[in-house]
Amino acid sequence: MIHHDVIVVGGGLSGLRAAIEAKRAGVDVAILSQVHPGRSHSGAAQGGINAALGNHPDGHDDTWEKHAFDTTKGGDYLVDQDCAIQMAKDAPRVIYEMDHWGCPFSRFEDGRIAQRPFGGAGFPRCCYGADKTGHYLLHTLVEQAYKLQVKIYVEQYVARLIVHEGVCQGVVAYDMIHGGFEAFTANAVIMATGGAGRTYSNSTNAVISTGSGMFMAYHAGVPLKDMEFVQFHPTGLFTTYILMTEGARGEGGYLINGLGERLMEKYAPKFMELAPRDITARSIQTEINEGRGIGGGGYVYLDLRHLGAEKILERLPGIRDLAIHFEGVDPIEAPIPVVPSQHYWMGGIDTNVDGATSMPGLFAAGECACVSVHGANRLGGNSLLETIVFGRRAGAEAARYLEGLTEKRPNARTAFTAAQLMEQKVEELGAKTGSQDAYALRAEMTVAMREHFGLFRDEPTMKAGVEKLLSIKERVKGIGLRWTGSVFNVDMIRTVEFEGMVDLALTVGMGAVARQESRGAHYRTDYNTRDDVNWLQHTLAYYQPDAAGPRLDSKPVTLGPFELQERKY
Ligand SMILES: Cc1cc2nc3c(=O)[nH]c(=O)nc-3n(C[C@H](O)[C@H](O)[C@H](O)COP(=O)(O)OP(=O)(O)OC[C@H]3O[C@@H](n4cnc5c(N)ncnc54)[C@H](O)[C@@H]3O)c2cc1C
Repeated sequence: MIHHDVIVVGGGLSGLRAAIEAKRAGVDVAILSQVHPGRSHSGAAQGGINAALGNHPDGHDDTWEKHAFDTTKGGDYLVDQDCAIQMAKDAPRVIYEMDHWGCPFSRFEDGRIAQRPFGGAGFPRCCYGADKTGHYLLHTLVEQAYKLQVKIYVEQYVARLIVHEGVCQGVVAYDMIHGGFEAFTANAVIMATGGAGRTYSNSTNAVISTGSGMFMAYHAGVPLKDMEFVQFHPTGLFTTYILMTEGARGEGGYLINGLGERLMEKYAPKFMELAPRDITARSIQTEINEGRGIGGGGYVYLDLRHLGAEKILERLPGIRDLAIHFEGVDPIEAPIPVVPSQHYWMGGIDTNVDGATSMPGLFAAGECACVSVHGANRLGGNSLLETIVFGRRAGAEAARYLEGLTEKRPNARTAFTAAQLMEQKVEELGAKTGSQDAYALRAEMTVAMREHFGLFRDEPTMKAGVEKLLSIKERVKGIGLRWTGSVFNVDMIRTVEFEGMVDLALTVGMGAVARQESRGAHYRTDYNTRDDVNWLQHTLAYYQPDAAGPRLDSKPVTLGPFELQERKY
């Protein structure tokens, strides 16, 4: 059994930033991560990170108030305004901090951090490092974590929480290198495990974005919030769903339909290609559904040719490489076939503005958390910002929580039992002959999510989707392990986590059926307007061990200075 004051699960931007802050507060902190922190999905982020620095010639009048307003409107008013305001206020200082730590942001001629326009924003406020922003930010934080000698355990798959008398006291992890499960006790645990994109078959996310932090918290009794809100990015590559950053449109790229028109003229005449993602993705899908895809087919074009080779090579070199290698298209010479693709999880573990959950000792930050800054639809560039702002706040809050504790010795017996339970579970899975194939079931689930809970939703389609998920959940009981080796057993990880993924899928499905309105990314053809009278509220989903799906509840949205208005762009 290993003990640390604070354990952070996940080495992406939010986990690293949380660990750095806790360490700076003088507590003993360790990160447990399934992959080396530098390989976290944060490193795949391309386009940039928002902060009202006002550096762009067209952006001198930008302020944190305007950033908070754009965020609130972008989220279709399901945003807790106090949290959005806090994020927008914290943004400039965290950007300058990253800059001082050596993050190589792109620059304007006068040396100031460059900013580009991004969707749904009134000003160009997205700071970037070419189209490799996430990579640069991530490596800057990895360096800081090393410098502060944060203890980092890599290739550790965290499989469950240790909870003693309602208090979180650590985690159980599978040691991928040496085999076996180990209990790591702690006085505070910070979940920073990223999104759950791989619940869908058409995702831009890394294969490890399976939502494990969300379902661990959920299974331990902590509610998940607003899970029905799933973001589809307008531009994934047609054949692989690999992301083509919004920065490509921020730099002036066009979206072209089969008739050769700039399709956004019809849907968002003012913001055009830089309308928020929910609106842009639905516009593209409408064109495709109505036969105006390219050649009448299932995709449209992202056209960058008019930007010229020099700009593409300087600002979007990574996009060009990806388009060449994965779609066989050089954007300097030809338009890129794109299609809306699952991209981001607005919902997650319900936390307050400092990352605290309803369970003492358990905190969460980053994409796995739902502070409620994105509401029903996240704006591009706000997620990287969220990871750093709320990672920092969660780290500080966990350190404060420790100061207030009188009893700091986690219960060893509970921890030991939790590890044993995992060993036992895997043994049972290994002993099963396995009437069901875990991988075939997973494929069935991800396709069901795509087909039944996509961009356009209606009751019969969604109810049929929930039925499929319930049938999959039933059949999960019949899965076993293909391989029972103790070391680097990825088969075991994928099998163990699948049950949790189905539970997450059910929170999406049942939350979506229940919400009888259209708001942000949740668009219903049978209730196609926003209903503030009945639905200006967060959904909370509670795990019920004895029932197939969650118990749904609600929670008020925190309103503030920004009055509700119709969303037009
Ligand atoms: C292709 C792509 C491009 C993007 N571009 C942008 C952008 O330009 N701007 C923007 O604002 N946002 C962007 N986003 C969104 C943003 O990058 C993510 O929301 C954010 O980086 C998530 O960070 P995180 O720290 O929450 O999680 P991640 O970076 O996903 O890290 C998760 C960590 O948790 C660990 N982990 C997970 N499960 C376990 C487990 N069970 N046990 C142990 N460890 C575990 C992993 O090893 C990893 O270290 C993009 C996302 C994608 C997919």
